[in-house]
Amino acid sequence: MRKILGIIIVVSLVSGCFPAFAQEDGLSFVRFPASFVPGSISPIVFTSPAEGPVKLEVIDLSGNTAAVISQSYEAHIGENALGWDGTYYGEALKEGAYILRLSSAAETISADITIGGALPMFTQVYLSDTVVTVDHPLNITLSASMPADLTVIVTGPDGAAYPLGSGTLSETPATMQWDGRTGGQSLPDGDYTLELTLKENATGNIATIEYIDLTIANGGESASASVASDTPMQASILPHDFTPAYPSEHTCTHENCYWNTPMDITNEKAVWDMLMAPMWVINTDQKKQVKMYAEPDDASEAIAVITGASQSVHVLENLDNGWSLVETYSSSFHDSAVKAWNVFSTGYIKTNLLVEKSPGNKEFAMVVDKLTQRLYLFRDGKMIAELLCSTGLANQKQPYNETRSGEFFLISAVGEFKSDNLRCSFGIRFNSGDLLHEVPHLDNADGTNNYRNTEPKLGTRASHGCIRIQRLKNPDGINMRWIWDNIYRGIASKTVKFVVWEDYQGRQIPLPDPDAKVYYNPDGGANYHARETCQGVKDKYLPLSSFPYSEFETDRYAKLTPCQYCAPLRRVAEINAINEAHQGE
Ligand SMILES: [Zn+2]
Ligand SMILES: [Zn+2]
Repeated sequence: MRKILGIIIVVSLVSGCFPAFAQEDGLSFVRFPASFVPGSISPIVFTSPAEGPVKLEVIDLSGNTAAVISQSYEAHIGENALGWDGTYYGEALKEGAYILRLSSAAETISADITIGGALPMFTQVYLSDTVVTVDHPLNITLSASMPADLTVIVTGPDGAAYPLGSGTLSETPATMQWDGRTGGQSLPDGDYTLELTLKENATGNIATIEYIDLTIANGGESASASVASDTPMQASILPHDFTPAYPSEHTCTHENCYWNTPMDITNEKAVWDMLMAPMWVINTDQKKQVKMYAEPDDASEAIAVITGASQSVHVLENLDNGWSLVETYSSSFHDSAVKAWNVFSTGYIKTNLLVEKSPGNKEFAMVVDKLTQRLYLFRDGKMIAELLCSTGLANQKQPYNETRSGEFFLISAVGEFKSDNLRCSFGIRFNSGDLLHEVPHLDNADGTNNYRNTEPKLGTRASHGCIRIQRLKNPDGINMRWIWDNIYRGIASKTVKFVVWEDYQGRQIPLPDPDAKVYYNPDGGANYHARETCQGVKDKYLPLSSFPYSEFETDRYAKLTPCQYCAPLRRVAEINAINEAHQGE
């Protein structure tokens, strides 16, 4: 009975994709903010039925053009996103009602929008150099669109942050000078990021953050390793310090605990140690759920549900009355006993339900990050692949589409699902109705698979809760099928640790190094790539040529589109749009 129910849940999630496809016969807006705030980038998401240029503009109520967001954006089939900061030629639009207009060669659609009060913006950010030495200090010239509070910190290669100063910035340009020292000591040589934060005077809310990469190069003579650990700034949580238990009021004392390990994929060792650590699961069937209660009493309010066998709980305290205080994300599905969609919850369960388990598979483990929409595959302590994925896209009607975050075991192989003509292959269960599987496809009349509507959405939220993984092979031949072939076998006895990181407000994706290499085929290739070789490019064009990330937006490379095989770096505007959407409550 439970087994059949489980399959029905999955199939109904899959068939739920259909209305979305059916609607994609014209241009349509998917989402944009109810009110745009000049100075804050917001994504405008729309679907397009065809490839080709579209124009996105803002019209005022007398019919005049107020802003052209994009004169000629090369839309692709499916979902497209453009970020806009509510300005035109650096000027904030006046507050009021406007019309957002999107036109292609075939049609024009409009929507009503509102422009709200402007946030302070930088009107000038000028650096005299990007290399700093004691003898060659840096001059930073700044101005803002209105008086605002400025904070300047610098972040080092080890993640430590040092405050450099704060004050009020106005329309009048101000210059600050820095010689690479804090507290009278030189920082060790290396690559640093300058973080300039503007806060609204009245509210203290963050209005905008500029990140600038720079290098300290004193030739090593004044390097002082102790500086890094002595003076890290404790005042605020830095974006890379967020842990899965960020909302918790409790202190974690467990070693390598998922709940206490920062969600920083660049820290390979910390992530691997966390992936190999044991976890506490509910000792019941993998398709059953148990309730978490507000009090150590099953007559009290049930506040969350936890899936058996595969989902971990963070055990905070074992009481002597047979109950334990735990925290985890509620695994509520549309038919669950408690409707708390992915809510980080703290409450009580019976201690005798808990069992500590280590991952059975000590070779492989995986992280899915909802912020970056990537799956990171680890093998023997090293990250060996970064694959494109799509986690759940919730909406007001279906809040349960949000993929439930947490620490899990990949626990059973489900295989292929079919609903009418839409299929998901290589399904592996990790949380009741939530599975990891290949990006779904339609069947073409000639028997081939059609991924046209689903594949372009990889790298963004799109599913009804399951996690879709790319089917195109990365340069090492890794895709969802590879995971199935190499990791699934024997999964019943060798559970695989699989964690999902929540995209809390405040988490940010760091901008790539300006010198990071981006690859392309100068012989007419339309895509850009992550590596010198790519399975998406014919052998005769390999190896690919490279250019530095800092030249990405120059005319020569501005039109290149991301390859769907090799999960290349995102463009600055795309990262900024994600970061702006996660900048705070
Ligand atoms: Zn812990
Ligand atoms: Zn590629």
